[in-house]
Amino acid sequence: MQKLIIIGAGPGGYECAVQAARQGLEVHVIDSPEHVGGTCLNEGCIPTKCLCHSAAVADILSAEGALDPEELADRHADALRRKEEVIGRLRDGVTSLLRTPGITFHPGRASFVSGDPHSMKVGEETLTADAILIATGSEPRFLPVPGAHTEGVLTSEEMLSLDHVPERLCVIGGGVVGLEFASVFRSFGSEVTVVEFAPEILPAFDGDIARRLRTALKKRGITVHTGSPVTAIHADSTRNGELHVSFERKGSISEIIADTVLMAVGRSPRFQDLNLEGAGIAHTPRGITVDEHMQTSVPGVYAVGDVNGLCPLAHAATAQSFTALAHILGKPELAPNLEHIPAAVFTVPECATVGLTEAKAKEIHGEVIVRKSHYRSNGRALSCDATPDGLVKIVCTPDGRLLGGHIIGNAASELIHELAAHIHHGGTLSDLRRMVHAHPTLSELLAQAAGE
Ligand SMILES: Cc1cc2nc3c(=O)[nH]c(=O)nc-3n(C[C@H](O)[C@H](O)[C@H](O)COP(=O)(O)OP(=O)(O)OC[C@H]3O[C@@H](n4cnc5c(N)ncnc54)[C@H](O)[C@@H]3O)c2cc1C
Repeated sequence: MQKLIIIGAGPGGYECAVQAARQGLEVHVIDSPEHVGGTCLNEGCIPTKCLCHSAAVADILSAEGALDPEELADRHADALRRKEEVIGRLRDGVTSLLRTPGITFHPGRASFVSGDPHSMKVGEETLTADAILIATGSEPRFLPVPGAHTEGVLTSEEMLSLDHVPERLCVIGGGVVGLEFASVFRSFGSEVTVVEFAPEILPAFDGDIARRLRTALKKRGITVHTGSPVTAIHADSTRNGELHVSFERKGSISEIIADTVLMAVGRSPRFQDLNLEGAGIAHTPRGITVDEHMQTSVPGVYAVGDVNGLCPLAHAATAQSFTALAHILGKPELAPNLEHIPAAVFTVPECATVGLTEAKAKEIHGEVIVRKSHYRSNGRALSCDATPDGLVKIVCTPDGRLLGGHIIGNAASELIHELAAHIHHGGTLSDLRRMVHAHPTLSELLAQAAGE
C-alpha cells in the first residue's frame, strides 16, 4: 500500500489526509494534538469570524439604541467565550476526522533526517514514505523597526485572546487581518487607527473596492493612514507604558498614541524546525519552492498552504493539497482548478474578490468592459438595511467573458461564488444576465450588473 506522511494538521493537512485515506493510502499525520485544525481553526479564520459576527451584532444593537457603550466590554467578553466554544466544537470534529480508517496520528513535531528527504524524525520515532506533504503553515512577521517587540505590541494570535477592549488601538497593516481586527474593535468601542505602508489598503483587491472600504471605515470612525511606513515604536514609562507609533507621511514624521498595537504586516513560512537544508529541499524566505503539482525540488516531497507562500488562504491550502494528492495518485482528474481562488475580508462592510482586478485585466488584455450595480437600488439590500454604499463590479473582455468579480457590501463573501462559478466555466455577461435570480435577493445585483 502506498504510504503518505503529512506534516501539519491545518487546512492543508487534515482534509488531504482524509481524502488520501479514502483513496486507499496509508496516511501518517504529524502535529501537536492541541493544535489540530492549524492556524485557521485555532488562531485564524474561525476565531476571527466568531469575533466579526459578535461585533456585527453589537453594531446592529448599538445602532438601534439597544446597547449602551458601557455594555460593549461585556459583549466582547461574551464574544471571547463563544469563540472558544466554536473552536472547541470544530477541533473535536477535526480530531474525529483524523480517526478515519487508514490514518495514524503521531503527536509531536517532525523534522527531516539529514541526507534522507523521505524519512522524518518525530520524537524517538522515524517514519519513512515515498510521498511526503509539508503543510506546516506560517507565523506572524514583525516589522524590522526599533521597538517592534515592545510590551503591548501584539500579534493577531495574542489579540484574539486579549481579555479587554483597548481604549486606543493602533493597527499596523491595512491588509485583511489588520482590517478585520480594526473593524471588530471599533464595534466593541475602541478608538482605532490603521497605518498602512502601501498607497491603498487591501493592496491585492480591486482599487474601487479598497477605496470604498476605506471610506466606509472612516465613516465608522476608524482613522486610516495610507502611504505611511511605520518607523519606530516606543513605550512611555512615565505614562503607564502608553505606546507611541511613529510613521512617515509625505516626508514628515507623525505619531499615534495607543494602549495596544496590533502588528499585522503579514506572515512568514514556518519551516525552521524541518531541517530543509539537511533534506536538500529548495526554499527562499518567501516559502518552499514548488512546481504546478506542489512538488518541491525533491521528487515525492510536496509543500502546500502558507508554507509555500503562494496564496495565504485556508481554502487555497486545501485545494493545493488536493492538487498534490492528485499527482501522488496519478489521477489528474482529481486536481482542483487553482486559477480563480476567491478571497474575502469580513469587515463591516464585507468585501470579496475573485479573478482579475480591473487594473490587472487591463495590463493583460488591454481593453476591458467594467459593469457595476449598487446595493442602494436593490430591494433586499434596502429591506435589510444593508450598507447603501455596497457595490458589485464585474470585469470582462470586450466580448463579455468574465475575468473578475469584486463586491463590497452585505454577504459579499457568499455572493462572490456565483461570479467565481461563471469565471470557472468561461461564462459571459449574457450567461449571468440570462440566469434567473430569486426576488428579492442580493444576488439580483449580479444579474443587474451584467444587464447594465
Ligand atoms: C488572524 C487570521 C485570520 C485569518 N482569516 C482567514 C480567513 O478568514 N479565510 C482564509 O481563507 N484564511 C484566513 N487566514 C489564513 C489561514 O489561517 C491560513 O492560510 C491557513 O491556516 C493555512 O493553512 P496551512 O495548512 O497551510 O497551515 P496552518 O493552518 O498554519 O497549519 C499548520 C500546522 O502545522 C503544524 N506544524 C508546524 N510545524 C510542524 C512540525 N515541524 N511538525 C508537525 N507539525 C507542525 C502546526 O502546529 C499547524 O497545526 C487567517 C489567518 C490569520 C492569522
